[in-house]
Amino acid sequence: MLFKEIIGNSSIKTQLLESVKKNRVSHAQLFFGNTGSAKLALALAYAQYLNCENKTEFDSCGDCFSCLKHNNLTHPDLHLIFPVLKMQGSKTAISDNFVDKWRSFVLANPYASLNDWSEILENYNKTGKQLLIYKDEADVIHQKLLLKNFESPYRAVVIWMPEKMNLEASNKLLKLFEEPPKGIIFLLISNNPNKLLPTITSRLQKIKVPDFTHNDISTYLKKGKIGSEKTENILKNTTFDLGKIHKIENEQFEDLDFFEQFASWMRLSYKTDIRKISKWVDEISLVGRKHQQLFLSYAIKMARECLIFNFANHKLLKTSEKEQTFIKKFAPFIHEENSILIIEALEISIKSINRNANAKILFFELSLQIIRLLKVKRKLIVN
Ligand SMILES: [Zn+2]
Repeated sequence: MLFKEIIGNSSIKTQLLESVKKNRVSHAQLFFGNTGSAKLALALAYAQYLNCENKTEFDSCGDCFSCLKHNNLTHPDLHLIFPVLKMQGSKTAISDNFVDKWRSFVLANPYASLNDWSEILENYNKTGKQLLIYKDEADVIHQKLLLKNFESPYRAVVIWMPEKMNLEASNKLLKLFEEPPKGIIFLLISNNPNKLLPTITSRLQKIKVPDFTHNDISTYLKKGKIGSEKTENILKNTTFDLGKIHKIENEQFEDLDFFEQFASWMRLSYKTDIRKISKWVDEISLVGRKHQQLFLSYAIKMARECLIFNFANHKLLKTSEKEQTFIKKFAPFIHEENSILIIEALEISIKSINRNANAKILFFELSLQIIRLLKVKRKLIVN
């Protein structure tokens, strides 16, 4: 996350940047504020900035080795702790068990609430258990921090919703706050710091993150991802909870049907119809980045479905009728010789869009790759 991706909050950004410039980075900080404010986003941008190899006065570069890993929250020196469920059959109740899910949850909406997170885990939570941060977490982080730094000057431990720590976990973590290993910073992100042990809060540098202002939200909405009627309603009724607004946006995308766009792309690529492909590229380069990324994720899903169709007795799981008809015809062209390369090319493109690559060039080059890969012949025939 870059600071410039977060609207408003300019005085907090300045305060955070100054702390780095003046070499006064406190080893334990508490970002607190209401649901839907930028507290987690700011903490993540700060952690990224601390380790950016090419930082400017105002932001991380977004492109260095460290930033690339921070962009998808996979930096080995970024430890993520958040409330989880105790799973039956699992020895420890720790965030690592759910970390991939949490990463995609936060990347889709860094302003989302604890409620949103528990909805994601609903499938694992038939008995309606409360999400907590368990003592196992403190043991695991302790172990991890005993290891030397992997690759960067700082190691950041992000603890989202520390008020969900049980007493044992709190007491164990307190010890770490008291004698933090060198180069470690703890970033706690809380809705309700009053629920933390006073012995913990007294050791934290506190940063109150205000709600977004009317001005922030209207600037954001003017970028036009939501229709004007909805925009007006939000401005009238919302408490400026950006998490909710992101949710409305994401729901809009859920209704998008990528099938026609995908099917025609594959047909044109198969026929090597460069003229029409270039028209197709013009169209897709006009939609927003989020739309492009979701389209590519859909393409990955379809490529996988083709493979399942080839190998699993033609049984398809999560596809509509029109998708099935298409897959039946198209699956023979996606096989063990080219599927990994196709999926890789699509995944790389999603990442490049994240880094603001030029969409026209990207989709055109990707189409050429797909044309080439579709021509790869299958060696092994499976009945
Ligand atoms: Zn960087």
